Amino acid sequence: MFVVGLTGGIGSGKTAATDFLAQQGITIVDADLASRVVVEPGQPALQHIADHFGEHVLTADGALDRRALREIVFADADALKVLEGITHPAIGEELKRQIAASESTYTVLVSPLLLETSQKALVDRILVIDAPAELQVKRAMERDHVPEEQVAAIIKAQMERTKRLDQADDVVENHGSLQVLHEQLASLHQRYLEMANVL
Ligand code: ATP
Repeated sequence: MFVVGLTGGIGSGKTAATDFLAQQGITIVDADLASRVVVEPGQPALQHIADHFGEHVLTADGALDRRALREIVFADADALKVLEGITHPAIGEELKRQIAASESTYTVLVSPLLLETSQKALVDRILVIDAPAELQVKRAMERDHVPEEQVAAIIKAQMERTKRLDQADDVVENHGSLQVLHEQLASLHQRYLEMANVL
């Protein structure tokens, strides 16, 4: 199974890119979605979280109370480490399961934290979607209707652009139109099909 890891900063165009590749018939495994699946009621990770942090991180109907948990880990780096120690392995297992179930010629794993976590061990190749910070801010502000400072703070908290680019096998520059984005992806898609067929 040939797996392309796709990452990039907030508003860089990860979803725009995976929407296009999905249209070409490629299975997209989404780490953000997997991170929600592993804390659904009945999942072992949710039980571990409740055991460690207390029942008050659950809502009345047994779902994760994200706000309560966020308040705990926001102010406490050690608590955040504990939480990640529970969720990251569970997310990794869920991603492996979804990758194994994929039937397309190659598979894309899209994750904002691909390079910061052991998720990068799941991929054969790293594709970075890159956009200048001004564009990231503009696009995320328009999409989420949030103030500039909020997007700027997220960009600051994320991996530095140059560090991300250093680790890329392939880079798509997303500073033009969607059509230009699609053209770049179409040629990468052909290369990935060839690479996958050689394996
Ligand atoms: P996040 O990490 O915040 O989920 P993302 O990397 O998935 O962001 P997208 O949601 O794909 O980013 O893009 C951000 C916004 O910018 C979206 O509204 C998207 O439609 C728009 N967008 C992305 N690329 C382009 C482009 N080349 N031209 C015009 N709009 C774009």
